Amino acid sequence: MIDVAIIGGGPAGLTAGIYCMRGGAKTRLFEEMFVGGQIVKTHRVDNYPGFSNGPDGFELGAAFETHAKKLGLEIDYAPVVKLELTEDRKTVFLPDKTIEAKAVILCMGAAPRPLGIEREEDFVGGGLSYCATCDGAFYKGKTAAVIGGGDTAVSDAIYLSALCKKVYLIHRRDELRASEALRRAAFERPNIEFIWDTVVEKLEGEKSLSGLLLRNKRTLETRTLEVDGVFVAVGIVPRTELVRDLLELTAEGFIKTDVNMETSVKGVFAAGDIRNTPLRQVITACADGAVAATRAMEL
Ligand code: NAP
Repeated sequence: MIDVAIIGGGPAGLTAGIYCMRGGAKTRLFEEMFVGGQIVKTHRVDNYPGFSNGPDGFELGAAFETHAKKLGLEIDYAPVVKLELTEDRKTVFLPDKTIEAKAVILCMGAAPRPLGIEREEDFVGGGLSYCATCDGAFYKGKTAAVIGGGDTAVSDAIYLSALCKKVYLIHRRDELRASEALRRAAFERPNIEFIWDTVVEKLEGEKSLSGLLLRNKRTLETRTLEVDGVFVAVGIVPRTELVRDLLELTAEGFIKTDVNMETSVKGVFAAGDIRNTPLRQVITACADGAVAATRAMEL
């Protein structure tokens, strides 16, 4: 039996790990792929206090990992395939073993939301991507479009504008949801063109994407926009597959927590993007992880 099992190695999970190690708790973090979470796909993190030069997300994630490992955090790179979570018993199932823990902290984060239109899956890797920093380099000197109006879409457009000849930002309204700082930075880029009040009706192309059929929501006019690539940034979906039937979730599917990050099951905590939170940033994920770890160690 260990004290704390942390599921997911993004900023929330790694911070929880740091606090647990400093608190002397027998802790293990489970990560199915690589640690760092969604920030490893971010080219600049400009709002993490103390880092005024805006480190790239990969560097910041690596710094969190180094810190946690230096304190002795053990990371199991294995997928958690099932969880059994009751007040009396918490079991983490891995492909080849099970682990019992006094407390569990869920930090699985969120994944990009698909656009939900025909042939979307067919074009993944053939002109359609959900990660500008991962795939942006393929469009160097070319024309790309970003769909969405939030922080992700606007920071993706800014990142791509340094690589691409032209970047279109296609948003379904006439006002961006993104923060003022990002909006300002995007409006200053001469090669970003904003296409307002517009939705993508169809992805065009044979094997790879060649264009987008757009519809203006006000005029209802349609037109084809030729692009070499499109980046979909229309929000996130929480990665709650393992706990959907075990914990209380919001209507949008995020895990409900109290101020201690405790979920509807005693001893089970959630931290970061996976939980119902008014702000999803690196700093709030870290703060959630710190609170959850501190409370988990009190059990
Ligand atoms: P988001 O804030 O939920 O924004 C999603 C955007 O996509 C919205 O503009 C939305 O339009 C649009 N959208 C949603 N569904 C659509 C559809 N089917 N078709 C067309 N457009 C659609 O998601 P996000 O930008 O990925 O950000 C997720 C969270 O991470 C946020 O809390 C954000 O603040 C945070 N984040 C922070 C940073 C940063 O601090 N630098 C960077 C990235 C993400 P409407 O505006 O009309 O709803």
